[in-house]
Amino acid sequence: MFYYVGIDLGGTNTKIGILDIEGNIYENTSIKTLSANGAQKTLERIWGTAKEIAQKSSVDIKNIKGIGIGIPGPVINQSVVAFFANFPWGQNVNIKEMMEKISGIETKLDNDVNIIALGEAKFGAAKGSKASVTIALGTGIGGGIYVDGHLISGFTGAGGEVGHMKLVMNGRLCGCGQRGCFEAYASATGLVREATSRLIVNKNNLLYEKINGKLDILEAKHIFDAAKEGDKFSLDLVDYEAEYLAMGIGNILNIINPEIIVLSGGVALAGDILINPLKEKLKKYALPVVTKDIKFVQGILGNQAGIKGSIGLFI
Ligand SMILES: [Zn+2]
Repeated sequence: MFYYVGIDLGGTNTKIGILDIEGNIYENTSIKTLSANGAQKTLERIWGTAKEIAQKSSVDIKNIKGIGIGIPGPVINQSVVAFFANFPWGQNVNIKEMMEKISGIETKLDNDVNIIALGEAKFGAAKGSKASVTIALGTGIGGGIYVDGHLISGFTGAGGEVGHMKLVMNGRLCGCGQRGCFEAYASATGLVREATSRLIVNKNNLLYEKINGKLDILEAKHIFDAAKEGDKFSLDLVDYEAEYLAMGIGNILNIINPEIIVLSGGVALAGDILINPLKEKLKKYALPVVTKDIKFVQGILGNQAGIKGSIGLFI
């Protein structure tokens, strides 16, 4: 029996697991990333922890056939990280080579959101489907595209960056520095920004009551909760969110024509109150041939999507 090490390298914490090729987790743990110590030292410490948990689950290191890593940044050819989103590790770093020297085991890597998409496609909500797109709706909007058994990682490793698709010419400023991005409108941050600007002029609603007028504590969840209680002001905000989601997802459907859209992240938890109007509005933005049998599902791998998905690189 062969085993794999799955690693979800994060800005603050790194998750490490021992898994089999079916994505079953034998042992897993989380350690502080401490990226300021540099790539070499960090990878050595991660490998040290991987060996410890392998021993704990009685897995012989000789039977570990591969190491998969999800990386916060674009990854070229499952080897070289063009740049790291939040680590001081420089550019074009060959993490594959570095980890293989440290461990003596074949290593493959990809962008962290692509890895989540791969996890949902191989082991999760889109298992068994030929083409799926996973969209992470949180502070920003990330995405991963899986078609015909492969992730679309792209020439320079930035494939699947659906959050920066443009929806409005010269529109709202996005975190990426450009304007009019999907993320600037339909992320949790975009929705809260829209809600805040409306609350400044309209205080006569349940949402304002729910947050006791404290605009700085407002989160997307407050809006969906108030909408579920029938608050017209919040329902209008859900309609706004559904409209931009439909426009963004409609464009994705027209280009990729997936069988399943997997939604993950905080906004996805809104459920039917958001998904139903989204489906209705999709008809305006996507061709009938791509919307006909489209399925919307919630991601099911949660916290384990990263370590499970990284094993998908070996299938
Ligand atoms: Zn952007």
